[in-house]
Amino acid sequence: MSYTKNDIMDMVREQNVKFIRLQFTDIFGVLKNVAIPVEQLEKALNNELMFDGSSIEGFVRIEESDMYLRPDPNTFAVFPWRPRNGAVARLICDVYNPDGTPFEGDPRYVLKKALAEAKELGYTMYVGPELEFFLFQVDAEGKPTLVTHDNAGYFDLSPVDLGENARRDMVLALEQMGYEVEASHHEVAPGQHEIDFKYSDALDVADKIVTFKVVVRSIAQRHGLHATFMPKPLFGVNGSGMHTNQSLFKDGQNAFYDPNGELQLSETAYYYIGGIMKHIKAITAIANPVVNSYKRLVPGYEAPVYIAWSARNRSPLIRIPAKRGSSTRIELRSPDPSANPYLALAVMLKAGLDGIKNKIKPPAPVNQNLYEMTAEERKALGVDTLPGSLKEAIDCLLEDKVIQEALGKHVFERFVEAKLKEWDEYRVQVHDWEVKKYLTMY
Ligand code: GLU
Ligand code: MG
Ligand code: MG
Repeated sequence: MSYTKNDIMDMVREQNVKFIRLQFTDIFGVLKNVAIPVEQLEKALNNELMFDGSSIEGFVRIEESDMYLRPDPNTFAVFPWRPRNGAVARLICDVYNPDGTPFEGDPRYVLKKALAEAKELGYTMYVGPELEFFLFQVDAEGKPTLVTHDNAGYFDLSPVDLGENARRDMVLALEQMGYEVEASHHEVAPGQHEIDFKYSDALDVADKIVTFKVVVRSIAQRHGLHATFMPKPLFGVNGSGMHTNQSLFKDGQNAFYDPNGELQLSETAYYYIGGIMKHIKAITAIANPVVNSYKRLVPGYEAPVYIAWSARNRSPLIRIPAKRGSSTRIELRSPDPSANPYLALAVMLKAGLDGIKNKIKPPAPVNQNLYEMTAEERKALGVDTLPGSLKEAIDCLLEDKVIQEALGKHVFERFVEAKLKEWDEYRVQVHDWEVKKYLTMY
């Protein structure tokens, strides 16, 4: 879609839009809103709207706080669950400095920079995300509980319940906002769901992921449920992932496909895999950015733990789905939905491009079940392990210049500073598990 300023003004009039939410994300992927009445829209579309950046976490110091929002007209969408008369629409914005240069701390800019680097090599990145989430009941005061809305399992056709109704409404709302929903189903854990929408270019998908979470949470709330994208809300059942299908196109053709290549994959695809595998530990800091992310990346719950790829196995870090031709892609299974999608896609792409530029060959695929092997057997195969904690992941990020460069100095420094603080906050807590285990033992 390619809208002009006039298109937007027309749509606003036709659809009776009264409020516009100008949106952008902070470096942690938290969506920020500046709501303006429609009378201010013209000014906003002329990039004349200023806001105080010092109020946004990880953005700027007080002295340099004046920032400009430049709405991207292509992101115009009306929220279908809000009143039709006096409707609410959103526009996703780029953040600019007062001198007219893009703000380095804007995650959307970080992704655009990586996409520009790909473009220089002739590539466009396409992404298809698979977002999983839980629906929990809320208590009498409206506070979320850890009680799931059901007890159904994978693909279960349980009698229609609250969750199924909520999910159907989510899909309808997403479709009204221009998403092409390809699949939606109950996931393995009770109360867990997945909604997949059609792949698209990386920037569009990152924008869509951000809005997806708003839609899912808002519709859940209307059904008296709380939707969470927390990676591992419950011990003992699967966590929620954000499997990321990715491919590169060159001259309108899928650059990962080669009918004569091994597994019908091109050299480019192999180098891309090589690059991702080389940088995966630092990528993990960005794609699995919270303490809780690492409670998901453990054996036994369909989430990856070992650094390996396979075209046959369902559970490796990198899986090659069976489809070929224009659908040829790799699926990275480690990311979770707490990641900032702009940063996560930027670092994956950067790693893949590093693989292509430096012809990094991936190790041989591993088709055996890595979870049934001993540590020695895995070592003999040369299979390494993903970082086991946020701290380990940050340490890996501190070692990886390529991923740091993808983030840029501003985002890299603020991210590490904030995450080390988060880690320290967690580290000093005394966990229930410890009390149960040791209180009577010693
Ligand atoms: N929920 C699993 C995860 O944490 C993935 C299940 C699936 O294969 O869809 O990644
Ligand atoms: Mg799934
Ligand atoms: Mg998947």
